[in-house]
Amino acid sequence: MGGDKINQEQKKRIDTLAQRHILPEDELIALLDGQDGASSSYLFAKADAVRREHYGTEVYVRGLIEFTNYCKNDCYYCGIRRSNKKASRYRLTEEEILACCQEGYQLGFRTFVLQGGEDPGWSPERIEALVRAIHRQHPDCAITLSVGEHDKATYQRWFDAGAERYLLRHETADEAHYRMLHPPGLSLQHRKQCLWDLKAIGYQVGCGFMVGSPGQTSRELAEDLQFIYELQPEMVGIGPFLPQKDTPFGEKAPGTMEQTLFLLGVIRLMLPEVLLPATTALGTIHPLGREKGIQAGANVCMPNLSPVAVREKYALYDNKICTGDEAASCRNCLDRRMRSIGYHIVTSRGDHKSRQ
Ligand code: SAH
Repeated sequence: MGGDKINQEQKKRIDTLAQRHILPEDELIALLDGQDGASSSYLFAKADAVRREHYGTEVYVRGLIEFTNYCKNDCYYCGIRRSNKKASRYRLTEEEILACCQEGYQLGFRTFVLQGGEDPGWSPERIEALVRAIHRQHPDCAITLSVGEHDKATYQRWFDAGAERYLLRHETADEAHYRMLHPPGLSLQHRKQCLWDLKAIGYQVGCGFMVGSPGQTSRELAEDLQFIYELQPEMVGIGPFLPQKDTPFGEKAPGTMEQTLFLLGVIRLMLPEVLLPATTALGTIHPLGREKGIQAGANVCMPNLSPVAVREKYALYDNKICTGDEAASCRNCLDRRMRSIGYHIVTSRGDHKSRQ
């Protein structure tokens, strides 16, 4: 496959993207539709070179703490949606979360990502106090929040308490597609507004989307790319959509590794300095998914620091990897994996280049 000759128009699109960082929408669509073995190889080589220019062979790690799977929302794709009566709900305590951070710190993590559903049991005040406590205990670490949509004043309080980064995938930048993935009451407009608010406050912001979500075509993906270019986020999280059996999308086809890798490469060329994770979902769809993600332009991994007892319960999708491994073995496994392809994980906060 990789030895096939590259289509010259496809080559030109990739070269132009590398130079100008954006293409007109019809060219983005053509680029995505033209994805094949030869153009993927060409794209990955360019993306990897750009990534090496800015971040060398270092892979930044984030300790992911999935601290609650209660959620008031009902997104059709997500295993922890409110209506999923089969989900076994849990909520970590402050003490448990601080213990995860402590363990992570000893393992070399200098970024903690607190992710969860929109859990009314975790009020903004309680999250604020948690951020303060982590910040006090680990002043040399970055705290990333990923707890969904809130008002600007709330985001500001958390920022003032010491949270510096926020992950909020936009999920899809197309209005009609957004409505296909979410129940009434959730709106793309509000989600985008949250991202702009977070940016205005001064967070390092991450948006992103699932690859291959039901109803998604190259046109929706081109809109995602255009939105990303407009927002200029510091981080972009993408991974394949993976069905979760107890959701309305339980029977839908999963996204593919090949398309996810292609998009990672495209995003690296669009935003040369972006922090781009090779996600757990990518590692779930293929045993070497994360390694391939790094080789396609990603530079971040987010191993799980949650207590093993709750790992399986944070089931956004089926067959999630690493649910049985202690944090220490996850870290070692990841280091081995990265070294096997000529990269290595580092102990540092791993800020965006503009903030270093
Ligand atoms: N409540 C937070 C965190 C959501 S979970 C928020 O609203 O941002 C983190 C991400 O997992 C989601 O943004 C979504 O893109 C992804 N996700 C959810 N269900 C998924 C599925 N079935 N397959 C793949 N990714 C999924």
